[in-house]
Amino acid sequence: MGNSNWKMRTKLVHEGARRSQYGEVSEALFLTQGFVYDSAEAAEQRFIELGSDEFIYARYGNPTTRMFEDRMASILGYEDAFACASGMAAVNGALMSLLKAGDHVVSSRALFGSCLYILEDILVRFGVELTLVDGTDLDAWKTAIRDDTALVFLESISNPTLEVIDLKQVCDIAHAKGAIVVADDAMATPIFSYAQRCGADLTVVSTTKHVDGQGRVLGGIIAGSKEVIRGQVEAYMKHTGGAMSPFHAWVQLKSLETLDLRVRQQSSTALAIAEALNGHAKLNAVRFPTHEAHPQYELAKSQCESAGTVLAIDVKGGKDACFKFLNALDIFTISNNFADAKSIATHPATTTHARLPQEQKDVLGITEGLVRISAGLEDPSDLIADLKAALEQA
Ligand SMILES: *Cc1c(COP(=O)(O)O)cnc(C)c1O
Repeated sequence: MGNSNWKMRTKLVHEGARRSQYGEVSEALFLTQGFVYDSAEAAEQRFIELGSDEFIYARYGNPTTRMFEDRMASILGYEDAFACASGMAAVNGALMSLLKAGDHVVSSRALFGSCLYILEDILVRFGVELTLVDGTDLDAWKTAIRDDTALVFLESISNPTLEVIDLKQVCDIAHAKGAIVVADDAMATPIFSYAQRCGADLTVVSTTKHVDGQGRVLGGIIAGSKEVIRGQVEAYMKHTGGAMSPFHAWVQLKSLETLDLRVRQQSSTALAIAEALNGHAKLNAVRFPTHEAHPQYELAKSQCESAGTVLAIDVKGGKDACFKFLNALDIFTISNNFADAKSIATHPATTTHARLPQEQKDVLGITEGLVRISAGLEDPSDLIADLKAALEQA
C-alpha cells in the first residue's frame, strides 16, 4: 500500500502497509526467521527469483521489516531502503558495500565517534585512503575531492557542535568528479531531512533516535536507489548479518505513526529553549542552526524548516560549572542518547567524545563547557524553568 502523492503524515501512517489474509488493522509482527514452501519446486523457484511478497530468511528480509523499509524509503524520498540492526550497522553497511581497497574517501571531520572509527581505523586498515576536511569550508571540499575520489561522507548537521554543511554545493562538487555522496542524517530528523533533495545518493539514519524516539530499541536505515539498495547494499547486508530484528521493525513502524507530531513539538521546544537561553549571563553561546544567533542561520534556513530537536550551549567556567549545572537539573536526565521523549543533557567532552585527543576536541570546538541538550516532549515552560534554575547553580 502506498501513494507517492500522499503528504508526510499520511505516509507515516499508511505507506508500505501489507495486510495478511486476516485483515488486521495494526501492522502484523511476523516474528519468524524462516518461511516454508508448498513444494520442492516452489522452494527452487523462490531461490531463482523472489516475488515482492516472498521471503527466504529474515537476515535477507521479513514482511514486518519490509513494511518499515518501504515506509522509511518513502519519507526520506528514495526508491528503496534496507533496515539495519543499528545506526552503526547502517553506516558500516553503506560504506563497506560501496568501497574497496585503493579507493579515496573524503569526509567532514566533525563526525559521530563511531563513524570516525569506521573511516579512520577500519577502512584505512583495508586500504582505503581518507581525507578529512572542515565540513563548513567549501574550498576545503573542492581541494580534497579529486578525479579519483570514490565516495564523500558527511553528517548534514554535526553532532555535538551543530555545524551545518552546504549539502547541495558539496553534492555538486562530488558529482562533478563522479563520487558518490553518503549523508548521515541522524540530527536533521526524517521529518526535516533535506539530504535527498540536495543530491545525496544514499542517506543513512540511526532510527534509534527520532524514529523510535522513546528510548527502547536500536535501528538504522540505508536509503537510496533501488539499484544500489537491492544491489550492493543488500548483497553486503544479507551475507554479513546486520539485518534489523522484525520486532524492532514493528516497534518502529508503530512509532512512525506519531513521528511528525513528536518531532515538530520537540523541534519547537528546542527553538524555544534556544530563544530563552540566548544571551544568558552564565553562557558563552547557544547554538541551534535554525535560531538567528547561529552563525550559519541563513544557510540552515535555506536548507530546512527546522534543524531538528537538539541544541548546544557553552557554559562559562568549564567542566566544574558544567557539572554543577548538570547535577542541578531536575527534569532533564543525564544520558548520552538524544531525540528521546525524555529531555536529555550530555557533556560530550567527558562522555561521548572523551576518547578524542585534546587537539581534535579543540579543532571540533568540543569545549569543557559544551553541553548538548535534547528537547523532549515535556511542557516547554517546565524545561526552560529547569534549565534556568540549574544555570543559577553553575
Ligand atoms: C547515534 C548516531 C549514530 C549511530 O546510531 P546507533 O543507532 O546508535 O548505532 C550514527 N550517526 C549519528 C550522527 C548518530 O547520532
